[in-house]
Amino acid sequence: MTLGVLALQGDFDAHRRRLEELGAKVVLVKKPEQLDQIDGLVIPGGESSTFLKLLGKEGFAKLKDFARTRPTFGTCAGAILLAAQVENPHQPGLGALDITVRRNAYGRQIDSSIREGRFRNDPIEMVFIRAPKIERLGDGVEVIATEGSDPVLVRQGSTMAATFHPELSDDRRVHQLFLELVGEGNREAGTGRGVGPQTGGELGRKRRSRRP
Ligand code: GLN
Repeated sequence: MTLGVLALQGDFDAHRRRLEELGAKVVLVKKPEQLDQIDGLVIPGGESSTFLKLLGKEGFAKLKDFARTRPTFGTCAGAILLAAQVENPHQPGLGALDITVRRNAYGRQIDSSIREGRFRNDPIEMVFIRAPKIERLGDGVEVIATEGSDPVLVRQGSTMAATFHPELSDDRRVHQLFLELVGEGNREAGTGRGVGPQTGGELGRKRRSRRP
């Protein structure tokens, strides 16, 4: 099973290490054609508005095709990207998960914290960094983990999103669950490969250096 980690920005390397610990082959995805070579994708944390800028229109469209048809797991900024609606401020989402998220929902005072939540019914450490909150869950969205009364890990079909950073804790259960979804997703899809359009070029737009 080959997993991709979107490597345009953010903490993609911690995801790579965790997936490799769990026995997956991992490629760092920087170009659109790499999406055709993977069985599932992790979109890491970072800054979702920066991801949008780096993706550009074309990268966004390709990622949208992928996320709507193939197993995809977004953490924090990645969860924001996967959402159908994004607030505070409003920005486009890939719409792979029928949820509304509110960015930076914990305010500046407690923008980062380590808390104990519940994964199914068991305790689990959760690292939150300028985290969003899931404010609306559409029909068919399953809550897998909670922190207090907030849903913080959800799934719809083979799309999964966490508002915390499981790659920063030692616990492997969340990534393990995603690998199980990827296994199921590929059995259902039959081929194990996406069929997105082939293109060359970078997935992220090249940033032009500014001249003084
Ligand atoms: N605050 C970031 C955003 O709105 C997400 C933070 C994170 O990924 N740790 O995109």
